[in-house]
Amino acid sequence: MTATMIKVELNAKLAAAIERCKKVHPKVRRIDSNTAQVTGSHGAHTVRIIQPREGLTLAECDCQAGRKTQLCYHVAAALALPGIPRPSAGAVLIKRQPKEVRVDGWSI
Ligand SMILES: [Zn+2]
Repeated sequence: MTATMIKVELNAKLAAAIERCKKVHPKVRRIDSNTAQVTGSHGAHTVRIIQPREGLTLAECDCQAGRKTQLCYHVAAALALPGIPRPSAGAVLIKRQPKEVRVDGWSI
């Protein structure tokens, strides 16, 4: 399983995925503490995010890009959900608002 997962890091790839989120405005729904369903422009996809050890965040998504272990915007969207593991607890990209979740100005 780990071999097919995407390593999530606070880097340009994640920034690009968040930019894509701002354009697509996907809907994000929690399934369990590690899993979210993200509905974007091409239907719903399931994203799973795990932290097997401190400092390592892995994600998988069943979309076409995700199956090729590319970091897709579904993963970026799932990271905005409260309680979902994130690459850094203090990630500056994620700002919580009282009633909604915002990722760098993009809200879900
Ligand atoms: Zn995806």
